[in-house]
Amino acid sequence: MGNPQNVVSNIYRNPMNLREFFDNLTPEQIEDGNRKQFDENKRVYKEFVTAYKFGNCSLCSLPLTEFISFKPCFHWFLRPHGIKKKHFQKYLSTPIGFFQFDSYIRWIANLNSPYKNINDLKCEMNPTKIIEYTIRYKNIEWSVSIGKTDRQGHPDTKNANMPHFHIQMKVDNKIFIRFNDFHIPFSNEDIFTLRSMEEAPDKVVWRNTFGEGMSILEDDEAFDQLDKLMTRTDDPENATFNTGTLVQMPEGETMDGETLSKAFKESKETRIPVRHILKKYFPQASFMTEITPGDSVPEISKRSPRK
Ligand SMILES: [Zn+2]
Ligand SMILES: [Zn+2]
Repeated sequence: MGNPQNVVSNIYRNPMNLREFFDNLTPEQIEDGNRKQFDENKRVYKEFVTAYKFGNCSLCSLPLTEFISFKPCFHWFLRPHGIKKKHFQKYLSTPIGFFQFDSYIRWIANLNSPYKNINDLKCEMNPTKIIEYTIRYKNIEWSVSIGKTDRQGHPDTKNANMPHFHIQMKVDNKIFIRFNDFHIPFSNEDIFTLRSMEEAPDKVVWRNTFGEGMSILEDDEAFDQLDKLMTRTDDPENATFNTGTLVQMPEGETMDGETLSKAFKESKETRIPVRHILKKYFPQASFMTEITPGDSVPEISKRSPRK
């Protein structure tokens, strides 16, 4: 599986058929590309976290609470002191790099608490959209909306007939930027990445390294990993995930109450979810576990249709 960004630098300027390009990659080339991409992500992420610990932005080195009007930066989306919507006017009329922006807000949200601040569940997204999600960081909430006509550009419009995306930003639950305020143009690199995912969806997967959200529940491999790593909480309202387990004993057998209460006690003491302990005591039983987003996960903000 290739990360779309791997190959951007290689064939970025090459107008060749993307499908053919991906089909011609050898497994070694794919593995090598993925490894290089992962190492690069790790390096950038480390810089990001180090700067954040000092309250600074890793991209422009300014404190995250400050801004300079002629030096636009992703940290403007954290609403530094004194920034107003008008400051975004010029900034968002040129490409800012959608996939970099996406990583920036995902990373910052996950520093607070992984997964639960990012609702990117496909099953909760409007199915007519290409990309739609909501991310929360402290008192700020960003939502991204990309529909089919945004991807193509709205025909018969002056300022929106190029491929673009929309964002909404809320501060303290009040709208600071409306979806319709800006049509932020995709960069050439964005278009390349989008095309790769569209034209070779079986080969190119958009991975959110260090920025995974709730959609991790829709990934079978990750799901099994999560199930093993989860711990029990006594504060279900702030839990990242809710779980429900259905246990079925073989015909004619029941679980004895004494062992059951022993299992619950053990779970409370060790924080190991009770379903894992029950598996130990009742190996003959079959278990069906469902993991769903916790109650504190934000709803996806929907963009209403254009008038
Ligand atoms: Zn910055
Ligand atoms: Zn649009």
